[in-house]
Amino acid sequence: MRLTVLGKSPAWQDAGGACSGYLLEDGDSTALIDIGNGVFAKLRRYRDYTRLDAIVISHLHADHFLDLIPYSYALIYAPRQQPVPVDRWPGTDRPARPLVLGPPGTRQTLRRIIGSWGPEDLAERAFEIEEYAESSTPEVGSLRFEFQAVPHFQETYAIAATSSNGGGRLVFGADSRPSDNLTRFARGADLLLAEATLPRPERTGERGHLTPAEAGDHARAAGVRRLVLTHISDELDQLWALKEAERAFGGPVEVAREGAVYEL
Ligand SMILES: [Zn+2]
Ligand SMILES: [Zn+2]
Repeated sequence: MRLTVLGKSPAWQDAGGACSGYLLEDGDSTALIDIGNGVFAKLRRYRDYTRLDAIVISHLHADHFLDLIPYSYALIYAPRQQPVPVDRWPGTDRPARPLVLGPPGTRQTLRRIIGSWGPEDLAERAFEIEEYAESSTPEVGSLRFEFQAVPHFQETYAIAATSSNGGGRLVFGADSRPSDNLTRFARGADLLLAEATLPRPERTGERGHLTPAEAGDHARAAGVRRLVLTHISDELDQLWALKEAERAFGGPVEVAREGAVYEL
C-alpha cells in the first residue's frame, strides 16, 4: 500500500498548497482519504480522476471535503464523461462514478451547500454516496477501512486502512483534541498520520486540535512504528514541530509535505 500526500495544510492552504488529502494505492485499488480545498488539482497531477475508486471523508469541515464540489462538476461536464463524442473523446455509456464514503450527514451537507447556488443533487449525480457508521468496515478493492469517532468540533472519524494483499496498517487521526480513543485505535499502527495544528493548546473554549508534542504523546502511547505530522501550516516552524514531536514520541517522525510517498 502506497500513501502519497496531496495536501497537508490546516483550514487555510499553504502557499501553493492544498488542505487535507491523501492518496492510497494498492495494486489496482485507489482511494483518497479526505478531499479538502485545493486537493482536486493536486490529485490531477498523480491520477486520472475518472479512475479513482473511492473518496473516504473523515468529517464535514471544508478543509476535508470541499473539493468534492469541483470534482462533481468534472464528472458531470468533462468532455470524456459525455455519452456522445466531444472533441477528441469518443463518448462513453459508462461515465466514471466514484464512491464517496462519508460520515452521517454527507448527502444533506452537500445538498445544502451546492443548493445555495445550483442543483442540490449535483454531487449525488456525480458520485455514488454512502454514509458510513463507526462500526462499518467497507472494502474498496483490496483496501479495507475502519473508523473511530474522535473528539473535534463536530462528528469526526479517524480512519484506518489496511490491504488484503498484506503490508501495514495506516491510521489517519483526522482532526481531534487529545483522545484515548485515538490512542487505542492507533495501537500498533505502522504509520500514524496525526494532526499537529497548534503552536500551543487552545487558550479558551473547547479543545479541538493537537500540538506536535501531543501528536507525539499519542504515537508513544499507541506504540506506532512511525509518526507523520500533518494538518500543519507552513506558517509554523516545521523544525520546531518535528523536535517537539520527536521528544514526546521517542521514535521516527516526519512532517508531511506535498508529494511525499510512504510505502506500508
Ligand atoms: Zn481540518
Ligand atoms: Zn476539522
